[in-house]
Amino acid sequence: MTLSLYDTMSRSKRPFAPKDPSRVTMYVCGPTVYNFAHIGNFRPVVVFDLLFRVLRDAYGDHAVLYAANVTDVDDKINKKAADEGVPIRTITDRYLDAYNADAAALGALRPTFQPRVTETMDAIIAMIGDLIRNNGAYAAEGHVLFDTQAFADYGKLSKKPMDDLIAGARVDVAPYKNDPRDFVLWKPSKPGEPEWESPWGKGRPGWHIECTAMIEEALGLPIDIHGGGVDLIFPHHENELAQGVCSGHGEREYAHYWLHNGFLNMGEEKMSKSLGNVALAHDLLKTYPGEALRWALLAGHYRQELEWTDSLIEQAKSALDRLYRVLDDSARFLAGEPSADGWQNASAAADHAAVRAALHDDLNTPAAFAALFQLADKVRAAVMAKDARAVASGRGLLVEAGNLMGFLTADPQSWFQSGADDDLKSRVEALIADRHAARAAKNWPEADRIRGELAALNVEVMDGPNGATWRIKEQP
Ligand code: AMP
Ligand code: ZN
Repeated sequence: MTLSLYDTMSRSKRPFAPKDPSRVTMYVCGPTVYNFAHIGNFRPVVVFDLLFRVLRDAYGDHAVLYAANVTDVDDKINKKAADEGVPIRTITDRYLDAYNADAAALGALRPTFQPRVTETMDAIIAMIGDLIRNNGAYAAEGHVLFDTQAFADYGKLSKKPMDDLIAGARVDVAPYKNDPRDFVLWKPSKPGEPEWESPWGKGRPGWHIECTAMIEEALGLPIDIHGGGVDLIFPHHENELAQGVCSGHGEREYAHYWLHNGFLNMGEEKMSKSLGNVALAHDLLKTYPGEALRWALLAGHYRQELEWTDSLIEQAKSALDRLYRVLDDSARFLAGEPSADGWQNASAAADHAAVRAALHDDLNTPAAFAALFQLADKVRAAVMAKDARAVASGRGLLVEAGNLMGFLTADPQSWFQSGADDDLKSRVEALIADRHAARAAKNWPEADRIRGELAALNVEVMDGPNGATWRIKEQP
C-alpha cells in the first residue's frame, strides 16, 4: 500500500519513498519552553505523532527516527528566569517536563531524539563556520548573516515573489546587512543574557540555524520529512532550507517532503499566546481524558484549519464512549465463550484495512474515523447475533486499528469510570458490596433497593461470571 503525503514544496500529494527504508527520518520543530503550551501547540505534536505511528507500522518500529527539538535559548525564557530570580535551566527543565507530560497524556510517543539548542552549540558554530567558508554567509559587526544572494533558490519553498521578500524585510534593515533579506546566524548577546564563545565573538545563535544544526546532529542531512505548523513555512523553513543546502553537508539536499499542519483556531483567530485566546493542554487534561482531546485534534484533516470548541471536545468524548462501549460489551460477552483463535472476520478485516488506507492517503483522519465506526458496528452486530468467532476477531481488529492511531489504549472499565471522582467510586464499590451481601442473605428487597440507589447515581451494574462490574450510564 502506498503512503502519499502532501508536500508543500511541490504543492501536491506525492507517493512517499524514503531514501533508505531501513532508516526513515523525520524532524518537527518543537516548542520554546518558558510556559505551559496551549492546545494549538499540540496540534503538530499529535499530527506528527500519528505520522510517526503510520511510518513505524509501514517500515518497522526501529526503522523510523523522529527528532523533535526544544528551543531553550530565547528572550522570553530569559525574562521568565529573571522575573522568578531562578537559573534559566530551572525554567526550561520545568516547562519541558510539563510539555512532555502533556504530550504523553495526549497519546504522543516520545520522539527518538529531543535535541536542545544549549546542547547543540558546537554543531551550530561549526555549521556557521562552514557557511562562511562556502561563501554562503558573512561576518559583520559581531554578527554573522546568511547571504541570500548566494542561494539562487531562495524563496522556492514559500513561493514568495522576490519583491515581496525584499519589501517584507525592508522594515528596519540593520546597517550591517548586504541585502535586506539576509538573516542572522549569530549575534552578540545583550548584557546579562546567556552567551557562548565563538570565532565571531561572544554571542548566541539565530533561531533558524539552531534547527538546521539539530537536524544534522540528530539525524544527518538530508532528511526524508520535515514538519511543523503552516506559520513556519516563511521565514523559518525557507531559511532552514537555504542554510542546509549551502552548508554543503547534505549533498545540497535538505528535506525531501515538507509537511505543514493548519492552525487550530479559537473563534475566528489562530490560537496564540500573543492574542491571549488560549486553552492550555495542562488545564484541559484536568477535565477531559487525553484520548478525547487527541480525537478532537484529529477530527479535521490536518491541513485544514480546525476550530476549537466545547462541542468539538464533547463530540470526541462521545465518539470514544461509543467505541469503548463496544469493547466493554464484547469483552463481557466473550468472558463466557471458548476462545476462537485463528478465525478471521473478513468484513471487519476490510474495515481495518480501510483505516490504514485512509491514513496512507495523506493522513485522512475523518475517513479513518468513519472506518473505525463501521468496524465497531460490525462487532456490536456480532455480539447481538451471539457469534463468538466474529466478535473475538472483530474486537481484536478494532483494538489494533484504534491503537494504530493512538486510541483505545485504556481498559474499557477504567475509561467509563474515569468520569467518576474518587468519592463516587468508593460509594459505588461499597453499594455493590452491600448488594452482594444482601443477595447472599437472599434479602431481595434490600438488593433491589440498592440497585435503585445505584441507578440514581447514574451507574449501571453488570453481573458476570467473575462478579459485578459497573460503568457510568450512556447519555441518551
Ligand atoms: P511556537 O511555540 O509558537 O513556536 O509553536 C510551536 C509549534 O506549534 C509550531 O510548529 C507552530 O507552527 C505550532 N503552532 C502554534 N500555534 C498553533 C496553532 N494555533 N495551531 C496549530 N499549530 C500551532
Ligand atoms: Zn525549526
